[in-house]
Amino acid sequence: MRSYRISAVSVAFVLAGAVASAQDRMISIATGSHTGVYIVVGQSICRLVNAGSAEHGLRCSAPASPGSITNIETIATGETDMAIVQSDWQFHAVNGTSVFEGRRADDLRAVFSLHSEPFTVLARAGTGISSFEDLFGRRVNVGNPGSGQRATMDVVLAQMGRTSDDFTSASELSPADQADALAEGQVDAIVYTAGHPNRSIQEATASIDAQLVDVRGPAIDALVERNPYFEKATIPGGLYNGNDVDVETFGVKATFVTSAQVPQDVVYTVVKAVFDDFERFRGMHPAFVDLKEAEMVVDGLSAPLHPGAERYYRERGWLE
Ligand code: GLU
Repeated sequence: MRSYRISAVSVAFVLAGAVASAQDRMISIATGSHTGVYIVVGQSICRLVNAGSAEHGLRCSAPASPGSITNIETIATGETDMAIVQSDWQFHAVNGTSVFEGRRADDLRAVFSLHSEPFTVLARAGTGISSFEDLFGRRVNVGNPGSGQRATMDVVLAQMGRTSDDFTSASELSPADQADALAEGQVDAIVYTAGHPNRSIQEATASIDAQLVDVRGPAIDALVERNPYFEKATIPGGLYNGNDVDVETFGVKATFVTSAQVPQDVVYTVVKAVFDDFERFRGMHPAFVDLKEAEMVVDGLSAPLHPGAERYYRERGWLE
């Protein structure tokens, strides 16, 4: 249920011509695992929104969630007002393709895009895994159901003419649990589509020797060439213990989305809170340092812009 709580007290205030009080409206942002970057995005946005609650009356929370696919589903049902989702799954939801075949998300609206999310493979040292193809015949954590990485993993496998049956075992642990599974030797490799540095890979590389693996070759080239939401990506060396060289892969963008059902003034207020205090937002996670306003309002967005966001971008001169 969507919850815009207007209390009797605030109605009285409005009737009396006073400024609406805080907690007039509660909004929620669906994020990802506790060890990812989405949760930091959501909580950073909420911190900036909540700093102005006394003036605008909006209160924001950003709970953990399974990830992109579930987030798009809960926006459609109205369980959440806003969410962070991968650009590839935003595209498929809007077009009713891939896992969203037959259930196009007509109400999905784009707000802005964020950091890049490289498709990331980390393997235990000593397993002999140095390429994506080396994963076949091994024990791989393919990601929890509902997550973006799980769904993107299936796309990569399909492009290679493979399935997760080609792994000895394909476990479905969440990003919060996969570092331990790798450290304890229950799996040989883990997969994550997320910004860097993130806590899941930090935890895994802090406790054991593990190497990030290149993901490249003809299948990856074809994916990047044919799909506007994929791009080549590099995970820079030096971010994680024992991983000093750059790793080549492909990736998507993290994007911030909402529903056409969410009122214009709500989205306007959220967007304004972020961009009026953008330097502070950018300082909230190392993955945000390269963010540029003019790119964020265009890149990686395939759903129509929400009119509340569009209004703010026009005011700032970022859209014609
Ligand atoms: N890209 C992941 C997903 O869509 C989440 C990454 C994160 O939490 O930072 O499920």
